[in-house]
Amino acid sequence: AAAEASLYTASDQILLLTPDNVDSLLVNSSAAVVVEFYASWCGHCIAFSPVYKKLARNIKEWKPAVDLAAIDCASEASRKVCMSYSIREYPTIKFFPAYSKPESTGQTFTAFPRDVQGLRHTIIKKLETHEEPGPPACPPLEPASQAEVDSFFETNNVQHFALIFEEENSFIGREVILDLLHRLIVNVEARTFYSYALQGLPGVVRSGKPPPVPPDVITNNTKEPWRPFNSSRVYMADLESALHYSLRVEVATHSVIKGDALISLKKYIAVLAKYFPGRTVMMNLLSSANSWLQNQAGDEISYEAFQEILDNSAQSPDTALPEGETWVGCQGSQPHFRRYPCGVWTLFHVLTVQALSIRATDPKEVLSAMRNYIRSFFGCRYCAEHFENMARESVMEVNTLSSAVLWLWSRHNRVNNRLAGALSEDPNFPKIQWPSPEMCSECHTVTVNGDHKWKEKEVLLYLQSYFSSDRILTDYLE
Ligand code: FAD
Repeated sequence: AAAEASLYTASDQILLLTPDNVDSLLVNSSAAVVVEFYASWCGHCIAFSPVYKKLARNIKEWKPAVDLAAIDCASEASRKVCMSYSIREYPTIKFFPAYSKPESTGQTFTAFPRDVQGLRHTIIKKLETHEEPGPPACPPLEPASQAEVDSFFETNNVQHFALIFEEENSFIGREVILDLLHRLIVNVEARTFYSYALQGLPGVVRSGKPPPVPPDVITNNTKEPWRPFNSSRVYMADLESALHYSLRVEVATHSVIKGDALISLKKYIAVLAKYFPGRTVMMNLLSSANSWLQNQAGDEISYEAFQEILDNSAQSPDTALPEGETWVGCQGSQPHFRRYPCGVWTLFHVLTVQALSIRATDPKEVLSAMRNYIRSFFGCRYCAEHFENMARESVMEVNTLSSAVLWLWSRHNRVNNRLAGALSEDPNFPKIQWPSPEMCSECHTVTVNGDHKWKEKEVLLYLQSYFSSDRILTDYLE
């Protein structure tokens, strides 16, 4: 039968209940089931549906122990089912314990929270008070006693033992247990996967690193409204903003550009003119700036002269470097997070991928231009130093266009690893080893020893698609 739960689809990881499947899913199930009874016309239900979808994604690891379901009581076909559960108001959420009897009408969540965190906690409380027999996949959730911890190693022979210390009213320990459920069952012992699960928990930081500064400590003085964006896509607005800042602000700090800096600028503009997948006005500008620069035979130029090229060109309608910064995928939750450095990484990933896709002749060309630019101009000097060290160590090993793409990816991950948990980390955009298993599960594997291992072929394909010029979104451009 066609699923009737019209606020949700099969891809939401929510069981869609129908008169035909309701008994088989709710009666005698080995998992507990949480059911939202809603009416598709009800405004509260519509407003709540994104939260419920998010909850489903958020607790998909809990599936062997607890599942989420929904049913549209406004649909003609399902009306009778809802009546049999005495549903009078929408949305109603009920908890059906594992092994429910056919006559069970479930336990109603009264005044339930409307946020993912609160709902997670409500479900945990239900699991904790579950009568026997509970869901077989649900491990004990009560805290360990001092005696159990003391005698743990006497009675167990294990390699890893995670002990979470928490306040009495904290849910972190129980959440970790449930978040790791799926992995414990499939018995994949990969450190990185565990770390992802742990890092995903609110308030969990690595020991030895300072915790993120709470947002209310730093005053947010951006007047800009938040721009919704798709985190699996690249935005041209970020690339253009990075170019604006780089060429009008960063390069401008050198009033006279000479020696290494002049070589760097020439290489940078040459690479942009060749590989930047930009709008026509931008490409015209880069092309004329490139011709002008390549014709400068002297040892130095003034920034003013270069600026004239940038600005003069802007006077002709088909040639322009857009002004100002409009961060989209690189927005931060505070004005000092993300933005320009995020734009720089994104720009160079795009350029290495573009060089590969149009089969450039020199595999080192883009990385060499990046190395020079960072060394000569990048305003964060200690970042530049670190990057130069990485480049000095291994960039000479790059000998194909694909290895250039992968070199930048892996060095970026090294930087991410070093910066995870640092004060500069936007708590809303934690530094991860990228792409995460959620973004690209095929990119990850485990060795026979249980260590995490990247599948570089898959990573390369992922990078080629993620940064490809024809997937760049042009939203928010003037
Ligand atoms: P970023 O790290 O800027 O990443 C931008 C986007 O790229 C991410 O949102 C993601 O979509 C994607 N991405 C993430 N990882 C990868 C990957 N491995 N491969 C491909 N794409 C990926 N800051 C310091 O504090 N110390 C430093 O030493 C330092 N060195 C830097 C060196 C360079 C060359 C650059 C450009 C920046 C450096 N930074 C450094 C800044 C820092 O790396 C981040 O850019 C900044 O903290 C903003 O982080 P972000 O969360 O926006 O993500």
